[in-house]
Amino acid sequence: MDFKDHITVVEDFPHEGISFKDITTLMENGKVYRQAIDEMVTFAKNRGVDVVVGPEARGFVVGCPVSYALEAGFVPVRKVGKLPREVLEVDYGLEYGKDSLNIHKDSIKPGQKVLITDDLLATGGTIQATISMVEELGGVVVGVAFLIELSFLEGRKNLQKYDVYSLVTY
Ligand code: 5GP
Repeated sequence: MDFKDHITVVEDFPHEGISFKDITTLMENGKVYRQAIDEMVTFAKNRGVDVVVGPEARGFVVGCPVSYALEAGFVPVRKVGKLPREVLEVDYGLEYGKDSLNIHKDSIKPGQKVLITDDLLATGGTIQATISMVEELGGVVVGVAFLIELSFLEGRKNLQKYDVYSLVTY
């Protein structure tokens, strides 16, 4: 299966010069979506994953079905103001300026094995921020899995400590 056939590349979205990888066309096809998730599950199984963690919103699209297949929990990482209970917060750099992410403080217990997922690895800023919160809570990152890796942005360089998987590379 060539998953790239099901990912739509949209030029100049959301800004001029950005070549956006649209995964909604992959998700629309039940067989392809399922097979993509199955590949991530194959990477993750036998790692003793207790909890899958993914940043909103496309991290949910990938992380939730993986957690279901592994019979692991799912913990959402969200933008500020969305989670109702006590949170941990981390700032991270964006192309222009910065943003912040939250996770519930009691969502991960020290020593729990965590799989981190998102749809796409670009610079790695989002996933590094996510990992830093998981580790501050005492979670042990046993793998990091993406549908797509933009290798020319070299986000993987910042994740050398971790076992990183991506289904498709551009
Ligand atoms: P990073 O923090 O690694 O620079 O950027 C990755 C984050 O931005 C991911 O959460 C991802 O959802 C989003 N993102 C950036 N570029 C794209 C893209 O071309 N396609 C999709 N689907 N998401 C993107």
